[in-house]
Amino acid sequence: MKQSLTILGSTGSIGTSTLDVVARHPERYDLFALSAAESVDALLAQCARFRPRYAVMASPPHALQLAEKIKANSLQTQVLQAPDALEKIASDDRVDTVMAAIVGAAGLAPCLAAARAGKRLLLANKEALVVGGEVFLRAVKQGGATLLPIDSEHSAIFQSLPEDRAAWARRVDHVLLTASGGPFRTRDPATLCDVTVEEACAHPNFVMGRKISVDSATMMNKALEVIEARWLFDLAPERIKVVIHPQQIIHSMVQYTDASIIAQLGTPDMRVPIACGLAWPERIASGAAPLDFSQLAALTFEEADERRFPGLHLSWQALAAAPGTTAVLNAANEVAVAAFLARRIRFDQIHAVNRATLEAVTPSNPDSLPALLALDERSRAVAAQQAGRLR
Ligand code: NDP
Repeated sequence: MKQSLTILGSTGSIGTSTLDVVARHPERYDLFALSAAESVDALLAQCARFRPRYAVMASPPHALQLAEKIKANSLQTQVLQAPDALEKIASDDRVDTVMAAIVGAAGLAPCLAAARAGKRLLLANKEALVVGGEVFLRAVKQGGATLLPIDSEHSAIFQSLPEDRAAWARRVDHVLLTASGGPFRTRDPATLCDVTVEEACAHPNFVMGRKISVDSATMMNKALEVIEARWLFDLAPERIKVVIHPQQIIHSMVQYTDASIIAQLGTPDMRVPIACGLAWPERIASGAAPLDFSQLAALTFEEADERRFPGLHLSWQALAAAPGTTAVLNAANEVAVAAFLARRIRFDQIHAVNRATLEAVTPSNPDSLPALLALDERSRAVAAQQAGRLR
């Protein structure tokens, strides 16, 4: 039987790669709903091609524009405009699978809705788990949802872990997240204050959304992934390690108690973990080129230099602090990255905003979606103040 699929954030980098994989398997997937924030024409083109039942735009004026264009093009897709429209398309009874590919904490509420409704939830939107933490996992458990990682590192770990979850604690010593090191892996740390937006968004191996591109350049992306791994795999933070591997051929590894290491390898192409999540436990063609070992140069590894990537360690600090601190860190980082992309602060000041916000905000155990959203808002206000002071 076909899987009925909602893609949250279908116009983004992960969303379009998901549609690329789906288009290769029309016999397996039906598009139930697509969503975007403001990209009206891109969503219109997707509706024309994939004929989803529903489309949602997070911004009301853009929803109106889309509805007019859908009508003008005689398409059958219905544009939903309720404030909770994203939650509706994530939790509708007719949906089997939800691809969570919104960027940032904005994806938390629909992710929770999908989790509570017991969906098969493909999680690219790492910020939702970083903010949601235990609240998110409780919703997954209570709803009977299946949570499958899409981040290539977490997909690699998921594929390298024993299938019997009860055996993880006994057999696994630690996991090793690989990191590309981004565009500034070898750059003189003293020149990081001069980094331009264009330089920060030019990832050496991937074309990605702007936020995750900047996060890769600061290695805050890896910091968020450490937190994501802590929740996804229920691992103590000290059992999560990071190693730089610039070629991004090994996507991550699991070291077992007997010192043997199991890794997952492949060409760096997000369609591979997306296809893996869509079909799991089956395997389907992803469209990615297979790895050609005869063409492979050396695989190299190095430690992350703290002077270049001071933000990486904030993940372990936040995990050791009061519950909710990872949500503070995420909010600060979203604000700081947006300020950098708007050319209001320097690249090296992203870390200053993150650190100052962590020092200024002490969460009081947020235990529900409203409490998490309130903490997110408070942290954003503090981070915006901090960024304003730096101008
Ligand atoms: P993009 O910026 O390319 O796309 C984000 C998508 O979310 C777009 O469809 C965008 O719509 C929509 N969106 C943005 N803001 C909102 C909002 N406030 N409310 C609702 N929808 C919104 O991001 P990526 O695809 O690069 O990343 C998506 C997620 O996947 C992130 O969490 C990222 O960390 C993660 N990820 C990405 C990888 C990659 O290779 N790109 C790899 C691994 C993880 P619009 O087009 O209208 O702006």
